[in-house]
Amino acid sequence: SGDVVSGMLERIDADLIKFIRLQFTDILGIPKNVAIPVEQAEKALTEGIWFDGSSIEGFTRIEESDMLLKPDPATYAILPWRPQDGRVARFICDLQTYGGKPFEGDPRYVLKKTLAEAAKMGFSFNTGPELEFFLFQMQNGRPTTEFVDRGAYFDLAPNDAAEDVRREIVLALSDMGFEIEASHHEVAESQHEIDFKYSDALDTADKVITFKFAAKAIALKSGMHATFMPKPIGGINGSGMHTHGSLSKDGKNIFFDPNGDKQLSDTARYYIGGLLHHARAITRVANPTINSYKRLVPGYEAPVYVSWSTANRSALIRVPAARGNSTRAEFRSPDPTCNPYLTFASMLAAGLDGIKNKIEPPESTDVNIFHMTATERKNLGITMLPGSLYEAHEALLADPVITNTLGNHVVSGLSAITTAEHDSFRMAVHPWEIERYLNTF
Ligand code: ADP
Ligand code: MG
Ligand code: MG
Ligand code: MG
Ligand code: MG
Repeated sequence: SGDVVSGMLERIDADLIKFIRLQFTDILGIPKNVAIPVEQAEKALTEGIWFDGSSIEGFTRIEESDMLLKPDPATYAILPWRPQDGRVARFICDLQTYGGKPFEGDPRYVLKKTLAEAAKMGFSFNTGPELEFFLFQMQNGRPTTEFVDRGAYFDLAPNDAAEDVRREIVLALSDMGFEIEASHHEVAESQHEIDFKYSDALDTADKVITFKFAAKAIALKSGMHATFMPKPIGGINGSGMHTHGSLSKDGKNIFFDPNGDKQLSDTARYYIGGLLHHARAITRVANPTINSYKRLVPGYEAPVYVSWSTANRSALIRVPAARGNSTRAEFRSPDPTCNPYLTFASMLAAGLDGIKNKIEPPESTDVNIFHMTATERKNLGITMLPGSLYEAHEALLADPVITNTLGNHVVSGLSAITTAEHDSFRMAVHPWEIERYLNTF
């Protein structure tokens, strides 16, 4: 590791870096960072940097507030939108407490721990998240919900300004080591999607965090606000973060079996069985805001029912047509407000549970579930995703596989957040209520 450090220091020097940001995320998946001058780089890379974690969301336990930031050298990247004289680079860090112990409330640790469980079974877990977002106008320094374009799905040049911003985001992400596969205008006005190539779940979770703050920083330069809020406007499509997942062993995709039913292996089927079995609990982390549940409604391509399919996009899990190395299960409920570390860890734990316990999924449904009657759904064993954050949290607390994966520290943090969010929302008088009741009663 002495070699890694000296190699890293040479690179920092050659890149003319002046500031280094040490980055990590809180339980909500909000990136936090401490900036250090480049002179501190060696100390950061060898000993780490201590900071006070007591005011970070979900970390609050005063008695263990001192926390050590340990930069992961693999996450080094220059921030391309920052000034090029006095350049800024970042590292994503692991959090430790005294004696080099990993901090249990660090979402990155939760994912690493779960990936290590998979590795014991010989598996590595790949994820490919599709991030959707809206670009809105800024007015007087504040974000609005005013569109910047009226384009629609796959439109060309909906509006020069928005097209240019999306291009700039793609260029910045490429500079930061993303392999961009596609970018396009989404279904709703002012809505966009940028897809990057799947890889190891830890790497992609890091990339989701980077993606969001890069998009925000670049949009702001053009006077726009990039938002990952799942349903900023009622009545039109919301933003999701469909996450494609697959397991490989010795570099080979193990979901593919040319002789299996639908050319899927038993492992793939059990993974899907496990993911469906734990889907209601996972919703708490995959859909972590009050607003998330305004997206999970019928009529907008977002999932509502717990089911799987090889064809239709109304199912919670879709197996796309591609086989061979591209064989994968697309989990369609997550939205981009989720903490990707916690979400990927929960998905993996659910899949592994399915594999260990040979959980058979119900029959796949290849028709639009929204067109079925309640009885038809019941006969096929199709249940519903939770309808609110509160309900999702209850489902989480009832699921020992997912709570064990997240650990006590994270689960109690999520409990506190659920209560606070639920109470605050319950006490607010919504414009809908005024419109509905003020005149009538
Ligand atoms: P959709 O058809 O749902 O719009 P996209 O083409 O936008 O899907 O995104 C597909 C995602 O799946 C990409 O991020 C891609 O890299 C990823 N992907 C492809 N193969 C695999 C695989 N074997 N495991 C996990 N993700 C994969
Ligand atoms: Mg897509
Ligand atoms: Mg696509
Ligand atoms: Mg999309
Ligand atoms: Mg998709």
